[in-house]
Amino acid sequence: MENGLAERWGFRGSELVNKASAISIRSVLNEVMQNMDEEDLRPTIPLGHGDPSAFPSFRTTPIAEDAVSDALRSAKFNGYAPTVGILPARRAIAEYLSEDLPYKLSPNDIYLTIGCTQAIEVILTVLARPNANILLPRPGYPFYEAHAAYSSLEVRHFDLLPEKGWEVDLDAVEALTDENTVAMVIVNPGNPCGNVFTYQHLKKVAETARKLGILVISDEVYDHLTFGINPFVPMGVFGSIAPVITVGSISKRWIVPGWRLGWLVTNDPNGILEKYGIVDCIHLDLTETWKSTAIAIVFLKKFLSLFSPFQIVDCIKGFLNITSDPATFVQGALPQILEKTRGDFFSKIVNLLREAADVCYNRLREIPCITCPSKPEGSMFVMAKLNLSILEDIKDDVDFCIKLATEESVVVLPGVAVGMKNWVRVTFAVEPSSLEDGLGRIKAFCLRHAKMQ
Ligand SMILES: *Cc1c(COP(=O)(O)O)cnc(C)c1O
Repeated sequence: MENGLAERWGFRGSELVNKASAISIRSVLNEVMQNMDEEDLRPTIPLGHGDPSAFPSFRTTPIAEDAVSDALRSAKFNGYAPTVGILPARRAIAEYLSEDLPYKLSPNDIYLTIGCTQAIEVILTVLARPNANILLPRPGYPFYEAHAAYSSLEVRHFDLLPEKGWEVDLDAVEALTDENTVAMVIVNPGNPCGNVFTYQHLKKVAETARKLGILVISDEVYDHLTFGINPFVPMGVFGSIAPVITVGSISKRWIVPGWRLGWLVTNDPNGILEKYGIVDCIHLDLTETWKSTAIAIVFLKKFLSLFSPFQIVDCIKGFLNITSDPATFVQGALPQILEKTRGDFFSKIVNLLREAADVCYNRLREIPCITCPSKPEGSMFVMAKLNLSILEDIKDDVDFCIKLATEESVVVLPGVAVGMKNWVRVTFAVEPSSLEDGLGRIKAFCLRHAKMQ
C-alpha cells in the first residue's frame, strides 16, 4: 500500500460513539464470555441478560402472534407510518395506560418508538441542550449513561439505597441539582435491582422534582411485572405534581423484545411541557396548593431558561421527524395486542417470575460469599454483593464473572456494568430447570474458590 494512504483518507470513527459504546451491557458481557470453554459439554446458562423469549416457558401469547400476522396480511400497513406513530396504536396505548391513572391520556400524549430504547434516545437527545445535566440512578440501566455521553449531556448520579429496599436517595437528588439540571430518571420496576417503588415514595419523588423544577423520566418497561408486596404504580399518577415522561414498550411484559415496539408518553395534565410563558408559570403557581414564592421562582427560572424558546413537545416531534419508526405492521398489530391479551397470560408469566425470584434469592443466600440485600419484587433481576475477602483468587466482580463463565459456563453480569463494583446482577427469567442448574454451579464455583479456614 502506498505510504501514508490511510492517513490521507483519514478514516476514523467518531470519538463520541467510541466513548458511549464502551458503556454497554453487551460490551461487558462480551468480555465476560471471551474465554468460555467450548469443551464444556454442559449447556451455557445465560443469567446475564434480560431476554427470556427463547425459553419455552416464556413464549409470548398466541394472541399477540395472531395480531401481528393479521396486521401483516391485511396489506393495510405496508407503507410509511406518521413519524409519531399511527393513530389507532397511539389511541390503544393511551387507553391501556389510562387504566392506571387518575386522568385520561390522549393519543396526542403518545409517541411510538423503536422499543423503549429509542424512547430513551429521543428524550435524552431533546433534553441535551448546552450545559444541561441529568440525574441518573446508581445502580442503573447503562443505556442512559451511554446515550447521555453520545449527546454530550452531563450525568450526575444519585444512589439507590440497598438498606432501604433500593429507594432513591432524595437528599442526594437535591444536593446534585443546580440551575442546569433538566431531569431525573427512575426505573420502576427496577432494573438492575428488582425493586418496586411504593406509592408514597413515588409521590416524594414527584414532590422533590417539583421543588427543584425538574422533569421526572420514568422507565416503566417492566410495567406490571411485579410479584411482591408493592403493586406497580405508574409515575404518571403524580403528573399533576411534576411533569412526567414515561417510557415503555411491549418488549418485557409480552416478552417480544425483537418486535421493537415502544412508546414515549407525556404525563402532564397541567400542560407544562407545551407552554413556557411567564403567565403560564404564574398560573401554575396560583392554581395549585403549592404557593411558596421561593419555589415558584425556581420553577420560573427553569422553564424560562431551559425550555424556552423550544418547548419539549415540539422538540420530541422534531426529533421523530429525523429518525426512523417502528415497523408499520407491528404498529398495526398493537390495538389487538393491547386489547385482546388475556389476564391468564400475564398471571402465568408473573407466577413464573415470582417462583424464579424465590428460588434465585433463596439459593443465592445459601452461598457464603454472596449477600442479597432484598428479595426481588419485580422485573427480572436481583443485585447480589460479593464478599471478595473470603474468596481466594478473585480480584473483583469482572474477574469473578470471567472465571465463573470459563469454569462453569454460567454468565452473570458484573456490577460495574450497572455502576456497582463488586456486585453482580443475576437474571432469574430463564427456564426453571436452567435456573436451578445455574445457581448450583455458582455455589460450586464459590465453594471451590473459598479461602481455606
Ligand atoms: C430492556 C430495557 C429497555 C429497552 O427496552 P426495549 O423495548 O427492548 O428497547 C429499557 N430500559 C430498561 C430498564 C430495560 O431493562
